[in-house]
Amino acid sequence: MKKFDEAGLAEPILRAVKEEGYEAPTPIQREVIPHMKAGEDILGIAQTGTGKTAAFVLPLLNRLTEDRKKPAPHTCRALILAPTRELASQIADSVRTYGQFIGPSVAVIFGGVKPGPQLRALSKGLDIVIATPGRLEDHMSTGGIKLGATTTIVLDEADQMLDLGFAPAIRRILGKLPKVRQTVLLSATMPHQIRKLAKEFQNNPCEISVAPVSRPIEKIEQSVRFLNSSSKRAALQEILSEKDIERAIVFTRTKRGADRVSGHLDKAGMSSAAIHGNKSQRQRERSLDGFKSGSIKILVATDIAARGIDIDGVSHVINYELPNVPEAYVHRIGRTARAGKSGMAISLCDATEQPYLRDIERLIGRKILSDDGDWDGASGEMPAFDPTSEQTQLKRRKRPQGNRRRSPGGAGRSGSAHGTKVASEPSARPAGAKPDAGRGRGGKPNANDRPARKSAPNRSQSGRPRRAKPAAAQR
Ligand code: AMP
Repeated sequence: MKKFDEAGLAEPILRAVKEEGYEAPTPIQREVIPHMKAGEDILGIAQTGTGKTAAFVLPLLNRLTEDRKKPAPHTCRALILAPTRELASQIADSVRTYGQFIGPSVAVIFGGVKPGPQLRALSKGLDIVIATPGRLEDHMSTGGIKLGATTTIVLDEADQMLDLGFAPAIRRILGKLPKVRQTVLLSATMPHQIRKLAKEFQNNPCEISVAPVSRPIEKIEQSVRFLNSSSKRAALQEILSEKDIERAIVFTRTKRGADRVSGHLDKAGMSSAAIHGNKSQRQRERSLDGFKSGSIKILVATDIAARGIDIDGVSHVINYELPNVPEAYVHRIGRTARAGKSGMAISLCDATEQPYLRDIERLIGRKILSDDGDWDGASGEMPAFDPTSEQTQLKRRKRPQGNRRRSPGGAGRSGSAHGTKVASEPSARPAGAKPDAGRGRGGKPNANDRPARKSAPNRSQSGRPRRAKPAAAQR
């Protein structure tokens, strides 16, 4: 399948895809669409940015056009599970976009908001429900939703759901679906637990793998500015006022940092909005809507809050603080240069952050050029080692407290297993980059999503599952 119209998709879907400006299916779409249309189970390795959402949403919508039977009250025909509310909302937006000429009934279910409107939507019966596992289980326990008529389930970013401690909830949810169904499992990495889940719940799945997107390296102009932390505020203002900025996302490591930076920008007359885990769902949505519509040009975000932000026209990403997890850098800068555009990523790096910069450069397999001539980036040489310099002294100290880098970890990650179909993109992975580059990991589940209830081995005394602890105050 080289073109969308070879996929056997219904005309209203092809029209929507055309309106989106998609000329040809991406590698994951080429592989997933025919197998999903044929009703097979799928085990796919694909990251955000590969076009994986359309890969599973288009065949789901196509099925609705083939069989328009109305779902019974409190049931849904297809269920999509996602780890975070941001991703769930993003998927729902895609369903509405690709389904604009079909008009599927859709609801998004996640914690942190009142359950009433969700229950009202569920009571009518729906074509597609997109949910985070915790709130979905709440509605299952009160009879708000019954999964006995759900014949397709998609688990998106399954590895992140497991990272967040949702494995028991996922098993309970899958246990409530009919035995005869289609199960699609998509994951950015393929750790042992994902294979185990696939073995338990899938029926001879077709394995599909696409390499990570090349976008961060090839289309993004990356630079770093070395400076004292006290100069960062002025540097940020200078960058935002001098550069030709359409939309910019400024990243900080902490929630308080995001509020502080946003406050300073507001005082300097640059209207911005901060988005992070302490903001209510309504505040986040208002900020994202403003950013999408262009009324807010600058978004100040933490890594977790920015996950799933897929807004075209982000011309600049500014790392006010470098991330202590190198993969987060690739994920951050991937917010720009979307939809075929180019983008700029500028990092402000103080002396304490130089170890982070090294980790990032190691991950992406290249040096990031300095924009202030501190060292000759073109030749790739760092400044001569000076044991007495302030920077060297700082580098020798421990990493900043509470910002310990987490090991990327993950046994048996990625790699195409025997029999796996590999739909690779040309020169997709930068030299030296790890297979999961482009994807931040870990973090907290949504405020009101309870990841697990029954006793499980990895549990705290409160009965909540233990998760990898995020760096202090990070999210
Ligand atoms: P995803 O990996 O699903 O998050 O998609 C990443 C981006 O790719 C989104 O902005 C989509 O709108 C875009 N996209 C998806 N499919 C295509 C396609 N076939 N051609 C061009 N862009 C696409």
